[in-house]
Amino acid sequence: MKRIRHLEIHLVHGCNLCCESCSHYSNQGHKGILSLAEAEFSMKLWNQRLNPHTFSLLGGEPSIHPDLPGFVALARRHWPTAHLRLVTNGFFLHRHPTLPTVLQRDPNACIYLSIHHDAPQYKEKLQPILALLRSWISDYGIRVETYLSFKNWTRGYQGSGSGMEPYNDGLPRQSWERCHAKYCPQLFEGKIWKCAPLAYLKLQDAKYRLSGSWKPYLQYQPLASDCSDEQLVDFFHREEELSCGMCPANPVKFKLPLPLNSLNPGIIKIS
Ligand code: SF4
Ligand code: SF4
Repeated sequence: MKRIRHLEIHLVHGCNLCCESCSHYSNQGHKGILSLAEAEFSMKLWNQRLNPHTFSLLGGEPSIHPDLPGFVALARRHWPTAHLRLVTNGFFLHRHPTLPTVLQRDPNACIYLSIHHDAPQYKEKLQPILALLRSWISDYGIRVETYLSFKNWTRGYQGSGSGMEPYNDGLPRQSWERCHAKYCPQLFEGKIWKCAPLAYLKLQDAKYRLSGSWKPYLQYQPLASDCSDEQLVDFFHREEELSCGMCPANPVKFKLPLPLNSLNPGIIKIS
């Protein structure tokens, strides 16, 4: 068993919000969800080899998934001692009335509410989410952490859609050192990927037919479950790779535009 700090799984590719330069490309109209059977298949391939301190369920927005509570239980069965984090913007938590019961039974699991703007329109939409979470905390004793993710926001790529371009600064070591995602490997399609921007790049390419500048990055090879123990250890000890050249060597903080999508403004009603 290789002890690692973190492993993540995408339950949903799309999102109700549209944060510019989302590192999962979930702001760019992707669709599709992972079934419980697909997730179980992937988890079974690795749960006897990897022992993550933290296992995160995320997306896209995981609360869009109709089987969300089932994923918490599934992850717990496969990694009994991991700290489970459900990373969500919270907009559809009200669709999952059984979720607090599942979390109540699991003291090492928490909802990690990620907050994406401080504009009054956003704060207004956040109020019913916070009220719901407060009621779950008081009625079920569940754990909730909040994170102001819009602070320290940087771009991981330039542009979006078919106009998206990598940075190609030629300083992959520096890009890796300054990367927020460097310890966030992804479990995707039964393989382990270094980070979300590499794992889901092929979805971007399939949807937008990216320019040739992405070709070297699209050739990235994830770790397959038939790897040797040496290959597995080597994978997790690797720091910068040539692929890190797609990310900025000098990421610049910027004010995230309000991520409420005009087509899907994340309107919620919690009664
Ligand atoms: S909330 Fe924003 S950062 Fe998170 S998955 Fe959705 S678009 Fe990406
Ligand atoms: S490719 Fe490297 S620098 Fe870019 S997100 Fe992944 S780990 Fe970070």
